[in-house]
Formats: sequence, structure tokens, C-alpha cells
Amino acid sequence: MGLKIDFHVHTYYSRDSVTTLKEVVTYSKRRGLDGVAITDHNTLEGALRLKTREIIVVPGIEISTLNGHLLGLNVTTPIPAKLDIEETIHRIHEAGGIAVAPHPFVFYKSPPSRQINSYDAIEVVNASSIPFQVFTYLSKRFAARLGLPQTGGSDSHYAPEIGAAYTIVEADPDIDEIVGAIKKGAVVPAGNAIPWKIKVERTALKLKRKI
Ligand SMILES: [Zn+2]
Ligand SMILES: [Zn+2]
Repeated sequence: MGLKIDFHVHTYYSRDSVTTLKEVVTYSKRRGLDGVAITDHNTLEGALRLKTREIIVVPGIEISTLNGHLLGLNVTTPIPAKLDIEETIHRIHEAGGIAVAPHPFVFYKSPPSRQINSYDAIEVVNASSIPFQVFTYLSKRFAARLGLPQTGGSDSHYAPEIGAAYTIVEADPDIDEIVGAIKKGAVVPAGNAIPWKIKVERTALKLKRKI
């Protein structure tokens, strides 16, 4: 069967997200996920604070490198932002994690460099990307060309978006096993674009907070 894991979830520890840690658990279970990776922008705070037995939590971070965004999964020591992307990959590996290139073609999301091939995997399904089909197609083709494993994640910044895209992982429910399965390609990306209804709700919520 495999585990169903959303490897790209933001919480309110990312300044642009409203999701609480409690909501991560509630919505993951509602969506039938076995787990998530918490990947806040340049901080591990939320990832390290979320302690639960209800779902698997892979600690992670989305780092703003000099050459675009980069996901570090299974990382528990801070990695500085604004370093060269290859240096950042090196630091992720030293910290015992793996480096996944998120949204490699989504120009308005600071895509990671497509000139290097030292990633451990490519996020080919990103539920927040628009137009979803085009970016999914280009990302899959890119990952196939590099011969790298393919993952999926929601890139959710609002709880109901969690699990819109995810990855099926052939592994036991153990973080090291899960990350190992990504590395060896025992993963299948899945899911869809975040529905418009949810996007509208999220925008309305953001406006309300500003008033
Ligand atoms: Zn990003
Ligand atoms: Zn993100």
C-alpha cells in the first residue's frame, strides 16, 4: 500500500502561513495522510515543536538559497539562508538530511536552479502551482531527464490545503526509512491542484486579518 505523506507543509512559523500545529494533525488525519514534512521558510521552529503520535512528522525546512528555494528533509539543525545552493545541499547532507528541489519551474515561487543535478529528488507535483498541469508536466520531464526520484507536496499555507498533493512512499513508518525510500526512488507523486474554493477562502481569510 505505501505511506501517504505530504512533504511540503507550511505552518504559522512561516510568516506567510496561518496553519497552527494542531491543525496540521487534524487536517492530515482528515485527508487520510500517514504523515507530513513541516517545511517552514528558513526556520525549524514549528517542525521541532510539533510532537504527536497521531501522524508521522518529518522535520524539514524550506531554505531561501541564493539560487532559489530548496527543501531539506530530515533536518534538525538550522541551515542558514542565502548561501549558494550547492553549498546548501552539502550542509543538508552534513546534517543527515536530503535535498529536494521544490517547484522547479514555478517562476513566481523562486524556483531552485535547474543548472545543477546534485539534488536527491525533485518535487514534481506542487498543489499550489498555477497552471498546475503545465508545471507538473515540465517538472516530471526535468526529473526524468536527471534520473532523479519524484515527490509531491501541497506547499500548503492554509490548513484545508494540506494533502492536496502528496507522495506514496514504500517504507515502514520510520523517518530514516522514509527518507531512504525517497533517495532510492521508492516513491510515487500524487494529487492535484488546490481547489479554487479553498484558494478563495484563504484569500478572504488573509484580507480579514489585514482589516
Ligand atoms: Zn517555495
Ligand atoms: Zn513552500
